[in-house]
Formats: sequence, structure tokens, C-alpha cells
Amino acid sequence: MSRILVVEDEPAIAELIAINLRHAGHEVSLATSAEQAQHAVGVALPDLLLLDWMLPGESGLNLARRWRADARTRELPIIMLTARAQEGDMIMGLDAGADDYLSKPFSPKELLARIRAVLRRKAPNTLGEAVEMDGLRLDPNTRRVSHGHGQLQQELKIGATEFRLLHFLMTHPERVHSRAQLLDRVWGDHVFIEERTVDVHVKRLREALAPAQRSDLIETVRGVGYRMTSSVGRHAA
Ligand code: CA
Repeated sequence: MSRILVVEDEPAIAELIAINLRHAGHEVSLATSAEQAQHAVGVALPDLLLLDWMLPGESGLNLARRWRADARTRELPIIMLTARAQEGDMIMGLDAGADDYLSKPFSPKELLARIRAVLRRKAPNTLGEAVEMDGLRLDPNTRRVSHGHGQLQQELKIGATEFRLLHFLMTHPERVHSRAQLLDRVWGDHVFIEERTVDVHVKRLREALAPAQRSDLIETVRGVGYRMTSSVGRHAA
């Protein structure tokens, strides 16, 4: 499941796209202008954007260029949608920073295939593959966290926010994340939540991992933030 923002001013097309994406298990939000899209992205970074070229007011092309110039949105996966099908236009779209390009009309199947391809390339952690570290296993499809294997496998009780936090940390290991970065990537709501909220949820996450003796996988990096590190690697070092 990925969070996808659809920026499209034609309601019938937007609705059709939304229905197909939701049916495929994605979480969809809609924007009908560049201004609305900018606001939505300001509040929460989606996993991927479907961006119509021709919008009332500022064009999708311009918007893509602005996002690419901003450090916070530079890596946003963007697929441009357009009625234009000429080669020159496609090159302009890709030059503006789009990751892919789809000409209307397109089939829902093709749209979903392109989305999968872009996500695989740019955000593999949103594709729902299970991740594992030091015997700790998180499966986004079943929403389960477990530890150990076979007879010794132990299911861990974990809250929804701690689950998302753990998922992010496990898919971005061995890197220090500031509280602001975690808010942006896990809560997607960096504007309204205080940074110490992160500390509260990290504490809860460590408590959830305690029955498996895996609390120490999450390190506090003083004055900076948090890092998920394999304790196997740490002991070997
Ligand atoms: Ca349009």
C-alpha cells in the first residue's frame, strides 16, 4: 500500500484514477490545482504523485520543476499525466524531473504497472515486502512484527504508529534520522506535531521490542536523533 496524491483538474478522470488505485490497495488523495497540490505536499509527503500537466493556474510541469529544486521534495516519485503525446512534450516532462510519463487515455493496468515500476526504483520500502533484522521480522502485508523462527517464533504487540516507525527505521537502517525527518517520513505531518512526540513513540517502540530483547536495535544519537543498527554488526565491530 502506498500513499498516492493525484493532481488532476478533470473530476471524471481523477475519480476513475482514484477508484483504480484504491482497488489496488493504495491510499489516494486528490488535488485539483497546483496550489492544492502544494498545500497537500506541504502537510504530508506522499509516496508517489500522479501529476497532470495542464492544470488551471500554475502548470503541473512548473510544479514538478519547483519540487525538484527543493531539498524536501527532490526525491518525490512523480509520474506526469497528459493529453499531449508528442515526443517534444515528453522530453520536457522528463527534463522537469518527472520519473515517468503517461499519455491520456491510458489503461488502469498500464497506470498500475508504471506506478509499481517507479516505486520499485525510488521507494522500494513502500511495496510491502517483509523486512528482517537480527531475527526481528516486520511484514507490512499482515501488519505483524515477530521475532525468531519456527517453534521459537514470538509475535510482538505493537501500536500502529510504532509499526510505521519501525518499518521506516528497518527500511532505512544504519543512518541517523533527526526527529524532524522522522516526523516528515513517518507521521507525514511535520507542521503540527511537536518533535518530542517522536521520543514518546520511540520509547513505546523499545518497550514493544523488549520481550524479544531487541530494544537496543534503536540507538539514540545524542543531539541528532535516532538510528537503527544491527546489534550483530555492532558486536563484531
Ligand atoms: Ca488537466
